[in-house]
Amino acid sequence: AKTGGRGTARLFEPQMDATLRERLGLERELREALAQSRFELHYQPLVDLSDNRITGMEALVRWRHPERGLVNPAVFIPLAEETGLIVPIGEWVLSQACRDAAAWPDAISVAVNVSPLQLRNRGFVQSVLGALATSGLKASRLELEITESVLLDDTEVNLETLHSLRRLGVRISMDDFGTGYSSISYLRRFPFDKIKIDRSFVPDSAGQSDAGAIIRAIVSLGASLGITTLVEGVETEPQLATIRAEGAQEVQGYLFSPPRPVHEIAVLLEAGIAS
Ligand code: C2E
Ligand code: CA
Ligand code: CA
Ligand code: CA
Repeated sequence: AKTGGRGTARLFEPQMDATLRERLGLERELREALAQSRFELHYQPLVDLSDNRITGMEALVRWRHPERGLVNPAVFIPLAEETGLIVPIGEWVLSQACRDAAAWPDAISVAVNVSPLQLRNRGFVQSVLGALATSGLKASRLELEITESVLLDDTEVNLETLHSLRRLGVRISMDDFGTGYSSISYLRRFPFDKIKIDRSFVPDSAGQSDAGAIIRAIVSLGASLGITTLVEGVETEPQLATIRAEGAQEVQGYLFSPPRPVHEIAVLLEAGIAS
């Protein structure tokens, strides 16, 4: 910036400063939030299309900020990943989700998002064991959602971790399927229990047949490998009708319910039926 002379320096430096300051501020606030337990979990139902029943709940983290209100993960998860804070945040999410789910009926599982850094962390399998032991939740009621980027680097280590988790009885889902590169080859490398088809493949209008065709192809791929398929981000009845016709087993989306705070979940579970 110096070569540009005084004017340029004045123009750019304060702005870079502001970005850096904001980042550092956010990082400091994130650490405080962790220390002061300012995170909370909201849950969104996963619905079985054969009987419209809730089979599980996905835990989605929020940050209860004193001034900004409820902050969505898109705002802080990337920074948490960059700074490594995702590891302690993720541990909190995991143990809280297991505790919450232990109070729900046996048929309801809980799905927890696991970031690549967390999975790669040496103590991860122990954390999962700890969360299950402390909560008393059966391993078969815990689903861990990982994205395919997890299998991109450190493949051998991650595969070993995933196999260990599976031996415990925990189920593994591939999240955001279709948004990465080699999705199909990864499905052959690790026996996932569920594929969550990213919401970008949900047809946005009745006439959009290619999205339906992609869902159909993934569903049949899943079926041939013995993997359940779930479609994310279902918002309308016409979308649901298409997805049903393409043979997906499960759905998740605003049509059934947005993510809700934990105290509202008990009420929803008592009703038993999602729509
Ligand atoms: P995701 O795992 O793909 O979660 C689904 C996201 O889609 C959630 O956003 C959910 O609120 C939103 N969604 C659900 N149904 C619909 C719908 O019908 N329409 C639309 N437009 N959106 C829908 P959310 O809660 O903001 O979370 C965003 C992302 O943040 C998650 O995407 C996940 O990648 C990450 N995330 C959330 N909680 C955690 C966590 O505890 N740990 C980690 N590592 N990541 C998390
Ligand atoms: Ca997810
Ligand atoms: Ca997803
Ligand atoms: Ca996503």
